[in-house]
Amino acid sequence: MAKVIIIGAGGVGTVVAHKCAQHPEVFSEIVIASRTRSKCDAVAAAIGKPNVSTDTVDADSVEQLCELFRRHKPDMVINVALPYQDLTIMDACLACGVNYLDTANYEPRDVAHFEYSWQWAYRERFEKAGLTAILGCGFDPGVSGVFTAYAAKHYFSEMETLDIVDCNAGNHGKAFATNFNPEINIREITQNGRYYKEGEWVVTKPLEFHRTLNYPNIGPRESYLLYHEELESLVLNFPTIKQARFWMTFGQEYLTHLRVIQDIGMARIDEVEYNGQKIVPLQFLKAVLPNPQELGKNYHGETSIGCRIAGKDKEGKPMTYYIYNNCSHEEAYKETGMQAVSYTTGVPAMCGAMMFLTGKWNKPGVHNVEEFDPDPFLAAVSENGLPWHEVLNGDLEL
Ligand code: NDP
Repeated sequence: MAKVIIIGAGGVGTVVAHKCAQHPEVFSEIVIASRTRSKCDAVAAAIGKPNVSTDTVDADSVEQLCELFRRHKPDMVINVALPYQDLTIMDACLACGVNYLDTANYEPRDVAHFEYSWQWAYRERFEKAGLTAILGCGFDPGVSGVFTAYAAKHYFSEMETLDIVDCNAGNHGKAFATNFNPEINIREITQNGRYYKEGEWVVTKPLEFHRTLNYPNIGPRESYLLYHEELESLVLNFPTIKQARFWMTFGQEYLTHLRVIQDIGMARIDEVEYNGQKIVPLQFLKAVLPNPQELGKNYHGETSIGCRIAGKDKEGKPMTYYIYNNCSHEEAYKETGMQAVSYTTGVPAMCGAMMFLTGKWNKPGVHNVEEFDPDPFLAAVSENGLPWHEVLNGDLEL
């Protein structure tokens, strides 16, 4: 029996709230708090349960967060606002004795750069306070890291190569839309790519490397090499890995729009003067693009995200392993009113909180998901709408 505060009432926050409400035996009280209270109220009304309430907070302000935490005295906060708020929320957790979980690592607003160092710097303070912080507990980062930990625990004596493959084969019928917050999404895709090889980070131009990969139940899709945050912690936590890469699929139409957006300066994150007012072009673009929360209704098709790993099995023989989940946009929408990208992020966030609150992932300090026991988490993820599958010694294509 525990009280949680969910910060953020966007696509992911909506799914987290629905999923937590399905487990009153763990989440006995749920508060949804965000900048715009009406969005929290709409989510609470859709759930329609008496143990779900709402509040308002500007999560850029530690003071406002502390007031919120003092009002509600939560056991844990699930941060599904934006990556810009990670540090203020962690500061408030330390000040008020609240445990923490998020799905994306901290990013400063003025540079499109993400890395864990800012949040890892809180390790000692969380440990001393006896508080647990779980970082990156969505799908990728999140399940991708736990899949890797599961492979290490059950199959490999030595993992040598890791390729995280993320395919969205869904169609929402719009000419251009992003599947989660457009500002965060476009910042991620338009920066240089990066992958890990033999102890070094190799930098590539944005979307420079691509190849066709086959996804289960979907078929071939062009997949582009990107930098993704979980690579940073996974190569440290599994030091036998010699090469680690992340691939994501994009359609030609999407890439053409993205190129135009960049070429005309709409992906800029610095301020420009417009009509006597300062605006950030990418933030303005977000205001006119389709809201990812409203894509669900006409979204068809599936996502497929997994890890392709090669190395030596427990006996020292060469082996390959592919572990993945496919998630249907239609099924996600039927259950929560959100599409599969929000669903595949929200379900693991709820499961991570459940792991902590039931004592399975309770370890004071600041931790990435692969540092915990993968078994109970992957069982929970499967039971809560994201069943996963394994292919042993198949062709990894990579
Ligand atoms: P949305 O833009 O749909 O929702 C963000 C929510 O946070 C909105 O309710 C917004 O409020 C609120 N918010 C923003 N700033 C503040 C603030 N200062 N104070 C309080 N609330 C604030 O985003 P998504 O739901 O798509 O994504 C949420 C998070 O999930 C992001 O961090 C994203 O990076 C992460 N993510 C992780 C994935 C993974 O697999 N690990 C995959 C997809 C997303 P308002 O409505 O007022 O703007």
